[in-house]
Amino acid sequence: MKNIAILGSTGSIGTQTLDIVRNNADLRVTALAAGNSVDKMEEQVREFRPLAACMWSREAAEDLRVRTADLKVKVLYGMEGLLEIAVMPESQVLVTAIVGMIGIRPTIAAIEAGKDIALANKETLVTAGHIIMPLAREKKVAVLPVDSEHSAIFQSLNGELLGRTGERTGLYGDLGIEKLLLTASGGPFRGRTRAELADIRPEDALKHPNWNMGRKITIDSSTLVNKGLEVMEAKWLFGVELDRIQVVIHPQSIVHSAVQYADGAIIAQMGPHDMKLPIQYALFYPERRPLAGERVDLFALGQLTFEKPDMTAFPGLALAYRAAETGGSMPVVYNAANEKAVELFLERRISYPGIAELIQEAMEGHRIIANPTVEEILAAEQETHQRIREKVSRAPGIIL
Ligand code: MG
Repeated sequence: MKNIAILGSTGSIGTQTLDIVRNNADLRVTALAAGNSVDKMEEQVREFRPLAACMWSREAAEDLRVRTADLKVKVLYGMEGLLEIAVMPESQVLVTAIVGMIGIRPTIAAIEAGKDIALANKETLVTAGHIIMPLAREKKVAVLPVDSEHSAIFQSLNGELLGRTGERTGLYGDLGIEKLLLTASGGPFRGRTRAELADIRPEDALKHPNWNMGRKITIDSSTLVNKGLEVMEAKWLFGVELDRIQVVIHPQSIVHSAVQYADGAIIAQMGPHDMKLPIQYALFYPERRPLAGERVDLFALGQLTFEKPDMTAFPGLALAYRAAETGGSMPVVYNAANEKAVELFLERRISYPGIAELIQEAMEGHRIIANPTVEEILAAEQETHQRIREKVSRAPGIIL
């Protein structure tokens, strides 16, 4: 029996994780945490009977408490609730599927308590990789990627990991990795020049060719900022230098990523567009379990194509490499500025190219903190948001 706690249980990754729990009798849910969707949480609590459930606001938690009074579930709220769930003695794995920097503290607490992490929260490694990865090694816990690209790399490394020490500690340095090949669909605007991207509207950017995702990540995929964040995650997760991480545009999204080894061999993971596969792989690693559903039909596909990313048309990716190279608090600013920029783009306050321009401006105005603490990371995020808010409030209409 494997006991798991899920942060972000009502979101896309959270609900798909629960699908996997439904299909595997030896998985048990010890705790669930969600934002403010009390209806959905009540349903989940009734079905999965966790020991604890956490809502973000006190009001939502109070509502849930009343509705689940007939059950033995302990209802919690806020950061304190997340931290309590993270360290619960009953669970072995924490699935971190919440969005945003609120994922950092619970992840650290869970690692301290010796829990393995099934990582679906991007911000954790992007902004605090220098804290998380050394701590995971020290505590000998596994940080198991849930994102499809990182899972693909992890799966492509699996054969190389068998029988090696350091398997659970994320030390890949001795495996002869020459390059990580991180694939990206290229989004709906692949092939367009910088000038051709000037008039993109939110409704155009919200259409993703292959994956059905939330609004923010759909925009991030189209700007390649999502890929930039994944480059940063890959660097921490696999301990590979930035110049060995190559983004490869692969419009069919069948090769989910690959590893090129020192002897020239490339091992790739291919599969359907189904997030349940990487989630399940993380939950049962190193075991591979059956999973019903879609299959890739190579004959129907015919061909797979690969292109170099165009960093001039999509400067968000180049800026990610720059932020990662600079390091310290710069990736925090990159991520925080992008969050605000996407909001402003959706509100039609900035143009599509304005997203990258705003990120660049925020990065240029930032005074870097080397090795930031969690407090400094959160402060850098707040400061970046604040500066952008001030800029917006000073000028009406379209600002970039
Ligand atoms: Mg991804």
